[in-house]
Amino acid sequence: MIYRFSLKQFFHRVLTFISCLVIAGLLFGELQLVLLIGAVIVLIWNYRHLLKLINWLWQKNLISPPESSGVWGHIYDGIYRRTQKYRRKQRELNARIREFRDGAEALPDAAVVLDLDYCIRWCNKKATYLLGIRWPFDNGQRITNLVRSPELTHYIGKNDFTLPCSLESPDNEDQQLELRFMPYGDKQYLLLARDVSQLHRVEKMRSDFVANVSHELKTPLTVVRGYMELIQEQTEDFSEQWLRTFSTIEQQVTRMDRLVEQLLILSRVEVNADIEIKAMVNIPEMMNTLIADARILNKDKQHKLLFDVDETLGLKGNESELKSAFANLLVNALNYTPDGGTIKVSWQRVGEHCVYQVSDTGVGIRSEDIPRLTERFYRVDKSRSRDTGGTGLGLAIVKHVAHHHHAQLHIESTLHKGSNFKMEFPAQDCFVIGKSHPKKHIIS
Ligand code: ADP
Repeated sequence: MIYRFSLKQFFHRVLTFISCLVIAGLLFGELQLVLLIGAVIVLIWNYRHLLKLINWLWQKNLISPPESSGVWGHIYDGIYRRTQKYRRKQRELNARIREFRDGAEALPDAAVVLDLDYCIRWCNKKATYLLGIRWPFDNGQRITNLVRSPELTHYIGKNDFTLPCSLESPDNEDQQLELRFMPYGDKQYLLLARDVSQLHRVEKMRSDFVANVSHELKTPLTVVRGYMELIQEQTEDFSEQWLRTFSTIEQQVTRMDRLVEQLLILSRVEVNADIEIKAMVNIPEMMNTLIADARILNKDKQHKLLFDVDETLGLKGNESELKSAFANLLVNALNYTPDGGTIKVSWQRVGEHCVYQVSDTGVGIRSEDIPRLTERFYRVDKSRSRDTGGTGLGLAIVKHVAHHHHAQLHIESTLHKGSNFKMEFPAQDCFVIGKSHPKKHIIS
């Protein structure tokens, strides 16, 4: 039964009770005694209800409140309503959690809820197969204690979840996983792990195919070049037409040779992508070779070349990859800058980064072409690129090398004014060569 609380009724009852006591006290001529008896009765009544309340609150299986009228009826009723409301809310909340969990169970991916310390709060069944998490046994365990992989530790350490993390499944080395972390709710992460083994296999087949084809093309190209040279050596009096034909064959063979070379470099960089780099590369020494090569290439064009190299700054990395990326940016600047232009190349520590930078006063690039430059075979001006012997793979190589070295590639350019290509390597991968203080040198 539900009582409606009314202040008027409450005061009316209290006044009636006190009036009855006063009348009875006056009738018997014992006002004080009657008032005292009245107070004791009220006290006993209240204590009885308090005991009832305690009994009701602590007996879990009693749902309906004890029967009572008056002020205690209002108290029971209030508490009862609140508990009912709380129970209703809890039922709703449980239903929502069940819905979320059912949804997460239906996912084809492993789903794990983590707190801010990357400790497991919940996971679906798929997480058991893909990540080897045993639920609820592993509740509260840090994910890196269960999925022991340097890639995951490095990824979490970086605290940048814009790109997914790829790693081998802890239970099956043939299984390749892609992990995505998404901050959600109140200080939680949702980790989704997907089996990408099939995709990985297809990608591997593709890159193996490109590498094999490129490798196989090298021999016939060398043979064609060899025979070409032999014919030219043995026969002296060629007609004008034959000389032109030989020159075209030579140009095309050289182009093809360069294309094959670049394809091989690209597939090597792709294969190395998952290998952690540890070698200490002496960049200033490498720069010396690049400077010498640039001088030879620059003989005809007479560009003004400025090199600003920190001679004490080395970098942890893969030497051949870095050389290929640095050379590609430099050769591009030489190719796309008209005669007499200026090209600046620098290798310096700048704040939190070590920066390799090539800027030129060349033809420049339209802003709409910039985002597509690192795509394979993307060339802004196909005929110009062909003239320069370009393959359209140079910047794709630079992008992959940058990614492998945790570096950022920045491209800025203004049409007809010039371009600036910058590779920013994290300072923690740089080291000081020898003990001398950093010094700059400018060669022009
Ligand atoms: P390519 O071998 O054709 O030079 P890249 O991948 O190295 O291929 O470069 C892609 C395209 O970007 C080039 O075709 C060229 O149009 C443009 N590009 C690259 N570097 C420069 C530069 N320094 N100045 C102007 N355009 C450039």
